[in-house]
Amino acid sequence: MTVSLDDLPLRDDLRGLRPYGAPQAPLPVALNVNENTHPVPEKVASDILDDIAVALRDVNRYPDREFTELREAFAGYLGHDLVAANIWAGNGSNEVLQHILQAFAGPGRTVFGFAPTYSMYPLLAQGTGATWVAGVRHPDYELTVDEAVAQVLEHDPDVILLCAPNNPTGTPLPLDVIEAVYEAARGIVIVDEAYQEFAPKDSPTALTLLEGRPRLAVSRTMSKAFAFAGARVGYLAADPAFIDALRLVRLPYHLSALTQAAAIAALRNAPIMLAMVDEIVAQRDRISATLEALGYEPHPSWSNFVLFGGVSDPAATWRALYDRGVLIRDVGIPHHLRVTAGTEAETTAFLDALASIGSAS
Ligand code: PMP
Repeated sequence: MTVSLDDLPLRDDLRGLRPYGAPQAPLPVALNVNENTHPVPEKVASDILDDIAVALRDVNRYPDREFTELREAFAGYLGHDLVAANIWAGNGSNEVLQHILQAFAGPGRTVFGFAPTYSMYPLLAQGTGATWVAGVRHPDYELTVDEAVAQVLEHDPDVILLCAPNNPTGTPLPLDVIEAVYEAARGIVIVDEAYQEFAPKDSPTALTLLEGRPRLAVSRTMSKAFAFAGARVGYLAADPAFIDALRLVRLPYHLSALTQAAAIAALRNAPIMLAMVDEIVAQRDRISATLEALGYEPHPSWSNFVLFGGVSDPAATWRALYDRGVLIRDVGIPHHLRVTAGTEAETTAFLDALASIGSAS
């Protein structure tokens, strides 16, 4: 007898939900999940490996539960007078976000974000038993202070997730919107800056707003700019009291000694790791310019991907690219597709494949 999910005594609020499901197909050009497609530079890889080898000698013992050295390294990387007490980390920023929702969302509470936004937010909210509430954006995906505040006041959520720049649209979020949302909100405000390093140099970060705002948290990840997606390291900055709340829900020793060693070594090499960012930004801008020339409608992006409209049949275009060895993402927005900026060669492969399919409708 084959057992299906429906046969199991699953929580009622999880029935009918679908898991996160970006396809993982072994295609030569994979530009579908906003990874950094550049490998970690050889020199840094061997430095990281040395530190992992040292950590391995003590792997019979549990790791530092407070990952103090790693938190100090993140504080140093972020600047803005942050110290280790302001920092938290997890196995990817997804886990960091999950910790926040475990502490501040849960049954009977609501989690709010402006759709379309990162597809994991509803799943993370529902996973804690909370209700996801989707707000709306302008057709160009931007948000004004007045509209954002009006929606926050209307829904009065317990937790607000602001994705800046926003995935899957690439749209930046001005600091005055974040400030106004915080003032209007009663609950927690999370600014997810997963793609911040790809924004124009010296563009504003919500880290500058942390002082005096204990309900605010700014999350980041090493998965994108640091080319560390497979290592699973995300982090956040917030008031030390906020960090104390996360200690209540994390599993003891949740960051392995090997993860901690790898992340500390990678942060020590931050300038070399981040040297790839400029190249990725150049490819992103090349994608936007070429898409426009091909008759598509790319949305302005401050991230490492481009969402483009003007696609008459996204499923057909996605499939035609797939058949040409190029994997991109159909994020479910009508007449749109999203592509990650790859290396120069991968980007060329995508643009050539798209051009070979025929022009936009
Ligand atoms: N936030 C956003 C906006 C993302 O796009 C992603 C990854 N796609 C994440 C968080 C999670 O990344 P990770 O868990 O790898 O840190």
